[in-house]
Amino acid sequence: MINEKMYALGSTRSKIRELFEYGKQLSQKIGKENVFDYTLGNPSVPCPEEVTNVIVNEVKNPSIHGYTSAQGTIEVRKAISDYNLNRYGFKLDPDLTYMTCGAAAGLAITLRALISSPSDKVLTFAPFFPEYKVFTENAGGSLVYAKCNEVFDIDFESLEETICPEVQAIIINSPNNPSGTVYGEDTVIKLAKFLEDKQKEYGHAIYLITDEPYREILFDGAVCPFIPNYYDNTVVCYSYSKALSVPGERIGYVSVSPKAENAQKLYLAIAGAGRSLGYVCAPSLFQKVVELCVDKVSDSQVYKDNRDVLVSNLEKLGFDCVNPKGAFYVFMKSPIESAEEFSDVAKTFGILVVPSDSFGVKGYVRFATCVSPDLIKRSLPALEKLAKHFNLI
Ligand code: PLP
Repeated sequence: MINEKMYALGSTRSKIRELFEYGKQLSQKIGKENVFDYTLGNPSVPCPEEVTNVIVNEVKNPSIHGYTSAQGTIEVRKAISDYNLNRYGFKLDPDLTYMTCGAAAGLAITLRALISSPSDKVLTFAPFFPEYKVFTENAGGSLVYAKCNEVFDIDFESLEETICPEVQAIIINSPNNPSGTVYGEDTVIKLAKFLEDKQKEYGHAIYLITDEPYREILFDGAVCPFIPNYYDNTVVCYSYSKALSVPGERIGYVSVSPKAENAQKLYLAIAGAGRSLGYVCAPSLFQKVVELCVDKVSDSQVYKDNRDVLVSNLEKLGFDCVNPKGAFYVFMKSPIESAEEFSDVAKTFGILVVPSDSFGVKGYVRFATCVSPDLIKRSLPALEKLAKHFNLI
């Protein structure tokens, strides 16, 4: 018998992928220059030169293609620990760090390690990365979500209403996809205190999983607090996909805070989850790249410039959006109730934007701003027609 759950996952595309594929077909019909594809979060800036140099040099070494130990080489794990100590003053333990195929694999195995009963729940905040639901359900639990406030910061009232003793883990994502919100220190301190109180009330650990692929993409002096400095039961899920512009190479890590309850057991359960899924080890060439380029990041200036141009023009046209402080997305309020319908109308003007429903909120659309500045410029007349269509100007 074929597994129906897996069949359902494999035979349906995410809304983002669906729109991206539609864009390719539309380009063939009306010409690439008339399609303004704001769907995919694929970094548009090249990786740092040092990354290219390491790749070119390392591929000459035949042993680079060999298996590494399941958790990754000790050299890369030490480099990560030293880097974070230097940057954030917190020592992640190389022996509690596990190299993964990006944040997606890191999240999937961490959730597997933390969910042990069908009644277990994982809590996150809407809007959220849609795959959280897939990973949580596949690990045997269920995802619940609290609301954010109007600027997409944590709504603590909604959190209080949503949390329950079955919640084993909370996922936060800052800078956020899709809202671009960066949680400030006040929010993090409040969240840490809230969770510490709840742990005491429920009598068990609540692990905070920090999904941080956009940690380096910050604007206007925003600072992204390093969560292990504030909350002991933290598991960092980091990815180099966006920071080094290498999403197709699949490299990241999970690191359990050495201060976490049962840190060693949790780490071994994460390793066991990786083993059970057949991950074997993270790509060895890219472990080397991270070891040698651990302090490098792609230049994110273009994301800021794109944000500035897009947000100011959308506002001029009468649209309403929150100015993102990080990541490379602009989350805009749909001028009509249904974001799906708005996205469909936008399509007729060649503009492809993702409706917010799959992110767990209604009434918004997401623009990915990791596009060429030229695409934004060329899309302005189409955005103007769209605004006119909805009588905004
Ligand atoms: N988490 C968030 C919030 C993301 O936006 C993405 C990718 O876009 C991921 C996780 C997965 O990233 P990775 O390529 O590291 O698996």
